[in-house]
Amino acid sequence: MGRKKVLGKDLMLSAAAFEHAGGWIRDSEFILTMGGVYMLAHGLGRPVEDAQSTFTCMESGEYHVYAYTFNWVSPWHRDMHPGEFEIHIGDNSTKVLGICNDHWDWEYGGCIRIGKGENTIKLHDLTGFEGRVAYIYISRESINLPCGGNEVLSLYIDKVIKNKESYSFDFVAAGGGFAGICASLAAARGGLKTALIQDRPVVGGNNSSEIRVWLGGGTNYDPFPGLGNIVGEFEQKNIGHYGPVNKAELYEDDRKMDILRKQENLTLFMEHCLISAEKKGDDIASVTLLDYRNEKLVEISAPLFADTTGDGNLGAMAGADFEVTTNGHMGMSNLWHIEKSSDPKPFPRCPWAIDLSTSVFPGRKDHIDFYGHRGIESLGCWFWESGMTEDPIEKAEYSRDVNFRAMYGAWDTLRNVDHDYQDYELTFAAAIAGKRESRRLLGDIVLTKSDFKYTFPDACAATTWNFDVHYIATRLL
Ligand SMILES: Cc1cc2nc3c(=O)[nH]c(=O)nc-3n(C[C@H](O)[C@H](O)[C@H](O)COP(=O)(O)OP(=O)(O)OC[C@H]3O[C@@H](n4cnc5c(N)ncnc54)[C@H](O)[C@@H]3O)c2cc1C
Repeated sequence: MGRKKVLGKDLMLSAAAFEHAGGWIRDSEFILTMGGVYMLAHGLGRPVEDAQSTFTCMESGEYHVYAYTFNWVSPWHRDMHPGEFEIHIGDNSTKVLGICNDHWDWEYGGCIRIGKGENTIKLHDLTGFEGRVAYIYISRESINLPCGGNEVLSLYIDKVIKNKESYSFDFVAAGGGFAGICASLAAARGGLKTALIQDRPVVGGNNSSEIRVWLGGGTNYDPFPGLGNIVGEFEQKNIGHYGPVNKAELYEDDRKMDILRKQENLTLFMEHCLISAEKKGDDIASVTLLDYRNEKLVEISAPLFADTTGDGNLGAMAGADFEVTTNGHMGMSNLWHIEKSSDPKPFPRCPWAIDLSTSVFPGRKDHIDFYGHRGIESLGCWFWESGMTEDPIEKAEYSRDVNFRAMYGAWDTLRNVDHDYQDYELTFAAAIAGKRESRRLLGDIVLTKSDFKYTFPDACAATTWNFDVHYIATRLL
């Protein structure tokens, strides 16, 4: 049950808490930098269905409407704004939004008439090209609202969140990728009262249907043959790496959830974002989560926490030592593919995307990739990777958006310049980025390459993957 939303003098709404998402995606990836879970119109060039909620207005009249949004192509093209949308309240609409801001900030939607009683509010996408909105503020008076990730998240929590629940566990895994799944299952099976926190509606992280990096466990090697038993329980029945065979169902999200839900001693906090950590001395005593669908805070205390966020978020919040390479690391991929269609639609030109019309790229014409693949098997595969020269935390959204611009630029070139693939449609692109390197939390001992030449008497894990270095093949920006 959502909160009761009442517009008196003013009202702040979180778009992610709208009861009906329509075709919009709740994007929780960047809350710790831009300050919220936002709605993303990830329509691959076709406007998505409206997202919708309701609120009660105490007095009819004219109200100012503001949207916390961002023109996502402004870092490259200040004058272009493919992510346009409107906010409809009852029969009235704001002006077109998603245009002005070159960073996350409030954009003024105008002053519109709102009637007394229950009103429907809709996010109305105009393009299908990645428009985005985190919060909506409706006010009788014209006002200045704070911007900046921390400030906006604090405003939302102070103004809107009324409930806080508290729980205590023996062990908490923060982050529901493979590390978190395995750690929490092992702990629960070992008899610890365990919590697993995950900001997405599915578990698996990179290995979920949202991101689609296949699982291929190098497990059960001597001298630790029991290591990898849990990974083995989740091993995918089928793997399809390249092109349209890389389907959602291969990732068996439901089976993963089923195993976790049935596990005694294990509580799942799905669609909950870890937003802060509280310490007692040097130890983490509790963490605070935002339940963004139900607009609640949840406090979880425990003597033991594992940072399984993939980004070292919990460690960083708690002030742990870490390293991060901000230039010259592996990047992130948003896998994508095209499929044959019986009713292919024209695809518009994308002047705001990366111009690939004069570039050689995997999937174009006779280009043969690393694996000897060409054509649809080579489009949108893992080597469509970017962000290697950017801070993987601070510039994560920017790098994800580079991937969107590369994909739309490639498809524009193939369809509208080469006039190839005329009977194909762009049918999948991961909205959630598949991340590789980011923060490295530092323990008492840091292994180096030379340590791998020896066998240590107190070793406890087998390494089954070679050193993997990705070099930038083409600098397109
Ligand atoms: C395209 C691609 C190909 C790859 N190929 C290989 C390969 O061949 N071999 C190899 O060994 N590795 C490979 N990797 C890397 C591998 O996928 C990752 O190392 C692995 O998935 C990391 O698992 P994880 O559980 O630590 O993190 P993740 O899979 O990133 O999971 C972390 C989870 O925590 C959640 N989370 C983050 N912050 C919060 C928060 N504040 N609150 C709540 N939840 C949060 C995230 O949403 C995510 O679901 C590849 C990666 C990519 C993207």
